[in-house]
Amino acid sequence: MTLTERDARNIWHPYTQQMGALHPVPIIRAEGCYLYDEHDKRIIDAVSSWWVILHGHSHPYIVARVTAQLKKLDQVIFAGFTHEPAIELAENLLALLPDAQEKVFYSDNGSTAVEVALKMCLQYWYNQGIPRRKVLAFRKGYHGDTFGAMSVSGRSAWTAPFDTLLFEVIFIDTPTPKNLASVKALISGCAEEIACFIYEPLVQGSAGMLMYNAEDLDQLMAHCRAEGILMIQDEVFTGFGRTGKNFAADHLEEQPDLMCFSKGLTGGTMPLGITTCTSGIYEAFLSEDKMKTLFHGHSFTANPLACTAALASIELLKKEDTQHAIERICKQHGTFLQKISLHPKVREVRQTGTILAIEWETGDRSSYFSQLRDQLYLYFLEHGILMRPLGNVIYILPPYCMSNEDLAEVYERIEGALDFFSSNI
Ligand SMILES: *Cc1c(COP(=O)(O)O)cnc(C)c1O
Repeated sequence: MTLTERDARNIWHPYTQQMGALHPVPIIRAEGCYLYDEHDKRIIDAVSSWWVILHGHSHPYIVARVTAQLKKLDQVIFAGFTHEPAIELAENLLALLPDAQEKVFYSDNGSTAVEVALKMCLQYWYNQGIPRRKVLAFRKGYHGDTFGAMSVSGRSAWTAPFDTLLFEVIFIDTPTPKNLASVKALISGCAEEIACFIYEPLVQGSAGMLMYNAEDLDQLMAHCRAEGILMIQDEVFTGFGRTGKNFAADHLEEQPDLMCFSKGLTGGTMPLGITTCTSGIYEAFLSEDKMKTLFHGHSFTANPLACTAALASIELLKKEDTQHAIERICKQHGTFLQKISLHPKVREVRQTGTILAIEWETGDRSSYFSQLRDQLYLYFLEHGILMRPLGNVIYILPPYCMSNEDLAEVYERIEGALDFFSSNI
């Protein structure tokens, strides 16, 4: 049996309607921004393998560090024990974050980082005997697939089977100069019930790479601060250089109370989640009363291999070469944006740092477009490029090692797709 047949017999894939699903492509190895299939066909990974790869696949430095760590300490319980990779990672990450972030809590992935942040906020109020039970979130936000993370994400086809079980959230639109006053008024009307505000800063990835301004977010954050609402900045996607700066926080004046990280945290090599918080949050759990403990932890909390991968990746991120590569990608994207925005089939092009999104003009054919999305996916794949359009939005999210030549190939193929499919609609 082929790998594909054996896969079909035993495996259920994520975000996939298995009925009539395209056969998944077996990948044998990967290097830099290339994936290689069974026949050694090369595929350019233009979406960083679901937004996680930073410096390229199987980066030799990360591989060497993780290999050495594996021989030394593989895993150890993190309650009652600690280890150097976790300590060093906390020190290194906190040094890069806004000053107020003072404690690191480890978990396994983006969703768990969000769950931890939500529990910290809700229990922060509970511990002080001032119960605030509601959460403020953006209508089109995405924060993960576990129940708490789903609750604070926008309601959609993804959450529909569970909607009646999700907890109560006050949804607002992302801020614009036009709606800021009304959004602020809405918040002030129920501020005393709101435990926290959770948001994807600057870019809402899963909603289709929607983007909004730092100045408007700053104003919204200042308002939440004034109303005593804790702020959870979900940088699971935007963290580690994607926005052109190390963190979306580096574009903002205001500071959050908590931050969530995953995806690029380990350079994409291993699963790891981190929730950071201020000393104010941390201190609300310090008590003689054991009931005020944060009763949360995962079996693999602060896995030493994952922490080591993150340390190596952050070291690479800080290198001048990497920072230049990020600047280079931002510039290349900017030039392509100018060019492609004139295409008659393009409704809008958006860019924040290394994230470039192209929204297709769909007219009133949005249902038709969902089929086209699958055709587009295949079109790119047949041309040796991994892209995963979100509805009518095509985006490029390259690992920072992607060369100008490979970027140019991806841009050209996007232009080719626009022409091919617009003449075929
Ligand atoms: C992907 C994502 C998550 C969830 O992370 P997982 O590791 O997939 O659970 C949370 N928040 C944001 C902003 C994300 O993009």
